[in-house]
Amino acid sequence: MSTYKAPLADMRFALYDVLGAQALFERLGFADASRDVLDAILDEGARFTETVLAPLNRVGDEVGCSYDKASGDVTTPPGFKQAYTQYVDGGWAGLVSPVEFGGQGLPHAIGVPLKEMIDAANLAWGNFPLLSHGATEALLHHGDAWQQEVFLKRLVSGEWTGTMCLTESHCGTDLGLLKTKAVPQDDGSHTISGTKIFITAGEHDFTDNIVHLVLARLPDAPAGSKGISMFIVPKQRVDRDGNVGARNGVRCGAIEHKMGIHGSATCVLNLDDAQGWLIGEPHKGLAAMFTMMNTARLAVGLQGLGLSDCAYQNALAYSRDRLQMRSLSGAKFPDKPADPIIVHPDVRRMLLTCKALTEGGRLLGYHGASLVDVVAHTPDAEERAQADVLLGFLTPIIKACLTEWGVECTYHALQCFGGHGYIHEHGMEQFARDARITTLYEGTTGIQALDLMGRKIVQQQGAGLRVFLGMIEQFCVDHAGNAAVAEFVAPLRETAALWQQITLQVGKQAMANADEIGAAAYDYLFYSGYVALAYWWARSVAAAETSAHSEAFKAAKRETARFYFARILPRTMTHAAAIASGAGTLMALDGDRFDA
Ligand SMILES: Cc1cc2nc3c(=O)[nH]c(=O)nc-3n(C[C@H](O)[C@H](O)[C@H](O)COP(=O)(O)OP(=O)(O)OC[C@H]3O[C@@H](n4cnc5c(N)ncnc54)[C@H](O)[C@@H]3O)c2cc1C
Repeated sequence: MSTYKAPLADMRFALYDVLGAQALFERLGFADASRDVLDAILDEGARFTETVLAPLNRVGDEVGCSYDKASGDVTTPPGFKQAYTQYVDGGWAGLVSPVEFGGQGLPHAIGVPLKEMIDAANLAWGNFPLLSHGATEALLHHGDAWQQEVFLKRLVSGEWTGTMCLTESHCGTDLGLLKTKAVPQDDGSHTISGTKIFITAGEHDFTDNIVHLVLARLPDAPAGSKGISMFIVPKQRVDRDGNVGARNGVRCGAIEHKMGIHGSATCVLNLDDAQGWLIGEPHKGLAAMFTMMNTARLAVGLQGLGLSDCAYQNALAYSRDRLQMRSLSGAKFPDKPADPIIVHPDVRRMLLTCKALTEGGRLLGYHGASLVDVVAHTPDAEERAQADVLLGFLTPIIKACLTEWGVECTYHALQCFGGHGYIHEHGMEQFARDARITTLYEGTTGIQALDLMGRKIVQQQGAGLRVFLGMIEQFCVDHAGNAAVAEFVAPLRETAALWQQITLQVGKQAMANADEIGAAAYDYLFYSGYVALAYWWARSVAAAETSAHSEAFKAAKRETARFYFARILPRTMTHAAAIASGAGTLMALDGDRFDA
């Protein structure tokens, strides 16, 4: 069975030594975010996730959720409900939510390590509170005062959980096709009818009520994505004074049987004249949903990160323990019948790939969260605008790269176990199965790539990219004479310069042929992700050198950075070549000749 130990030392290094979180929190006015408070949160979060959530990971996979057709009820795996009660009692639900709605008002950048721990320990369980955070964000930004009073406060306290109901059987990526209908009523409410599928936490036994945020069309709605509105549809009816009434017309029709995250309830929801309340303006639901989706995309990125880390930890322990064959350069443990497999270069390749992508990815994700705090709290309008545009640019990179690397790392970690990774006993195949969904929901990798290339580069004319390139250049200038990072500065500058060239090149090609955007998008996204990680690795080495960390810690950062620059960063060359080849080779073959 797998185990989990929260990587507190590296989390603290990322937050305090590299990102300078303490000074940032002070500057942003988080009076309660002292180092003592933050450290206590990290320690207690580690205890909760290691001792409560991690032990439930396997039972969640083996038993899964069950559905009762007669009642429409869903029962979560043994222990899940009790763990949720502990989570709520521990005050975790409202950690980063505003104080005026009952939250603790702490920075997002401190909620993120907790989120990583939860996902690493038990991804399926983590999906229940995840969607509540998305609903909280949507209500915070778009809800009326009474909706915030009645629904938001109960989401923040954890008394109720939230969902995000977009998908229908004929529409996933293309929400403009959705058919669920909303009809206005005399009392200001609406009746909502339709069928939603794949709804995470759509039904469960954690709480008495569930706050569904549902996308639907009003009778006068224009066709396509401009005609979508968002509604609150509680499982139990709730009036404007917060009184809970009879069961609403929303019912779980089935749960899905999935490749992974068996402990997460993925529901078909049938809405039959359900009472719903409009959030925000009519026909502006997609914009409101995007508030929720952007938060959720960063959060799903962390799911990939958490799984990478947990799988890596288990693979590392196994590789130190498992004895097979002798080292090619002579026995390293002659007193043992064979050497541990960590002596073999190929096993080291897999372990170091996990370490480099996970620790570098941690900075990528935490930096994104710190930008959320800057956008929400800086009094400086220029700083806010810059952070906002950078966050928008980085969000698809964080979501897609951390999740695709999550898939890659969980497979490497499984491979370190050999055949023992493929069987159920060690829990490694569960990581690989669980990781797969993260590249699909909240917008597939292909859709993140399109968002980056189409919206953040072409439409916004690369504004976010310019901010990030500025950060890279600033680092290179600041560390021009720093011997500790000299070996990283030149390659970082080179790949950043090529990034700029590639961006211009795709922009030019796209003017002649719009398919060039879609053809370049995936490779452009990964090119971007690998350069971003090179930046964070160079910064990590610089920060480690001047920190109070041990020599062993500093050496580990330096050697992992060297591995990253030598063996992973060159992946950018493949991506650059693919981009340069243009759309021709992708589009030439006729659709009906694929099986010719
Ligand atoms: C376990 C699970 C939980 C989920 N939870 C929720 C939830 O809580 N709420 C919710 O509303 N939904 C949820 N979903 C739905 C999920 O978000 C969608 O499955 C996902 O967005 C993809 O939509 P689709 O499955 O319809 O695929 P499609 O949209 O049919 O896409 C199929 C393929 O085509 C590609 N594609 C489509 N359009 C383009 C394009 N323009 N350019 C390039 N490629 C394109 C996609 O990348 C994908 O590879 C969940 C799904 C699962 C499996």
